[in-house]
Amino acid sequence: MDTDPGPIGLTQTQTQRLRELGADPTKLEATYASPAARDAAFKELEDGLVRAGRAQLDELRRNRRVPGLIALQAALRAAVTGAGFVEVVTPHIISAEGLVNMGIGHGHPLREQVFWLEDGTCLRPMLAPNLYVMMRKLGRIWSRPFGIFEMGTCFRRDTKGSHHLNEFTMLNLVEVGLPMEARRSRLEELAATVMQAAGIADYALVHSTSEVYGDMLDVEVGGEEVCSASFGPIPMDDDFGITEPWVGLGFGLERLLMVREVYPNIERGGRSLTYVDGVRLNI
Ligand code: ATP
Ligand code: MG
Repeated sequence: MDTDPGPIGLTQTQTQRLRELGADPTKLEATYASPAARDAAFKELEDGLVRAGRAQLDELRRNRRVPGLIALQAALRAAVTGAGFVEVVTPHIISAEGLVNMGIGHGHPLREQVFWLEDGTCLRPMLAPNLYVMMRKLGRIWSRPFGIFEMGTCFRRDTKGSHHLNEFTMLNLVEVGLPMEARRSRLEELAATVMQAAGIADYALVHSTSEVYGDMLDVEVGGEEVCSASFGPIPMDDDFGITEPWVGLGFGLERLLMVREVYPNIERGGRSLTYVDGVRLNI
């Protein structure tokens, strides 16, 4: 009696290896007539991906190209500076008080994700607390409207897998002192500026709510959040001495890279000892 062995797919080890090498996910679903045919197809796919990875690393070296994350930072910096925003560079280490002022006190979910240091300090999980301080201090000096931005590392104990990193790069821009009625259109304009500089044409603005900011707009690419944006004034602003209308947008750079390059995991685009410029090093 013949028993049908069923379709022969890639083994788990083969699938895992091809995934690591960044194979097109649809190729992992293929079925084969025999184990020998499958193994041959695996070998061919693996060899192709290894060759492509080595070629990309060679090209990086030969052309003295910088990794994707660095190139993205340069492109966004140029675009945002070109739109009139002034870059600020603030500390990675912030006080717990800065978080409490942001509404992130005990019991807040983000609180659980904070990397605490000693003496009530922590690694910043977001740029907003520092930007609020800069907004207030520069607001005493500069005429309206004015815009500032920071691009730098944020730290969160995020263990949700392939879309979160413990350290990631945020671009946070904020404009203060614009007319109330201009906030929504300005937000859309700034989102467009950043998305264009990131080389992503297809995105959507989606309404969301946040415990910190209330009503928000997210920028999504294929359902993936790449940015959360909000506008003020909001009640919390009082604690920072802010009384004027503002708009603010926070983009995750590794998320932008992940969706643009169609990376299967975010680590490929981030700080890593496993990848260089998205290329897995065990090739
Ligand atoms: P998510 O819901 O995707 O976890 P979030 O709403 O908690 O993100 P925000 O606080 O809105 O994140 O941060 C702004 C942006 O920073 C996000 O849109 C995302 O692009 C990026 N980001 C947030 N957390 C991480 C993380 N752990 N790793 C990588 N990028 C992140
Ligand atoms: Mg968000």
